[in-house]
Amino acid sequence: MVDKPKVAIYWLGACAGCDESIVDLNEAILQVVEAVDIVLWPVAMDFKYTHIESMQDGEVALSILSGSVRNSDHEEMARLLRKKSKLVLAFGACACFGGTAGLANFKTKEDIFNWVYRDAPTVVNPENKFPQTETQINGMTLTLPEFYDHVYTLDQIIDVDYYLPGCPPPPDLIANAVNAVVAGDLPPKGSTLAPRMALCDTCSRNKKKPSKMEIRQIKRIHEVEADPDSCFLAEGIICLGPGTRSGCGETCIKTNIPCRGCFGPPPGVVGAGPKYLSALTSLIKAEKAEEIQEIIDAIVDPAGYFYRFTQPSSILGRKKPGKHMEE
Ligand code: SF4
Repeated sequence: MVDKPKVAIYWLGACAGCDESIVDLNEAILQVVEAVDIVLWPVAMDFKYTHIESMQDGEVALSILSGSVRNSDHEEMARLLRKKSKLVLAFGACACFGGTAGLANFKTKEDIFNWVYRDAPTVVNPENKFPQTETQINGMTLTLPEFYDHVYTLDQIIDVDYYLPGCPPPPDLIANAVNAVVAGDLPPKGSTLAPRMALCDTCSRNKKKPSKMEIRQIKRIHEVEADPDSCFLAEGIICLGPGTRSGCGETCIKTNIPCRGCFGPPPGVVGAGPKYLSALTSLIKAEKAEEIQEIIDAIVDPAGYFYRFTQPSSILGRKKPGKHMEE
């Protein structure tokens, strides 16, 4: 009997939404299980890490890694799975671009620890105790992973072969990716396994987009009752579709929520944030500087808006420590 290709599925700094999207393959997951041999999937199955450690280098055909890299445990597992795998797929917005967790790069490690372990209103910590990487108890040493200063994308830590973005990636693209690996029918290394067009090119609301669009007021989605068929931008609601890759299935758009950019930019765009900003600002119509300012002021948390999923991969990121960028 021919051995089935081995597949490892692992989460780094992730919420398990990406794992959930694999479960959302529904009955198609039976075909996946038939075609491949899953050797690691902590969210769903009881495999031990030592099982992976004991494998030959390159024995795993594909590692599907979700989540960003925020601590030494994430880094260790990413490096182990890279060593044991022929192919590594960065799976989901966090692995590809840093994801929402990457917004933490606008704060320092100290800011985060002070808030979480000392200053948040629900915290009671009179002795000001903070997590340590090593603690001695009864002659024993307890260890915790080191929390890094920075949130990293997967390819800032290890070599990545393919990318599948989304928060989470949709089941049809997951099935295509697994089928391509099983059939050995893969695009060039470094490819994103999703369409190349921008979301606006496939969006059902595009036909209602006026040929000449002008924004005179920016409204937030909860402040208005958005027309379920009109282009959000035409209504003054920020939608990141012009600068976002298509392939998500327009799940948000169909539920009357504008695009937030979880598929990242389409090919050729360096830095999603500037692309979103330029797409929006080119539509703003005002006569006087004060009017422009008033429109811009209506954007609450611009950095969080335009870099929601992409801060760690952006050219805006703060300087990264050299230690994790050497390889
Ligand atoms: Fe669709 Fe948003 Fe593009 Fe308008 S801006 S066409 S709503 S994706």
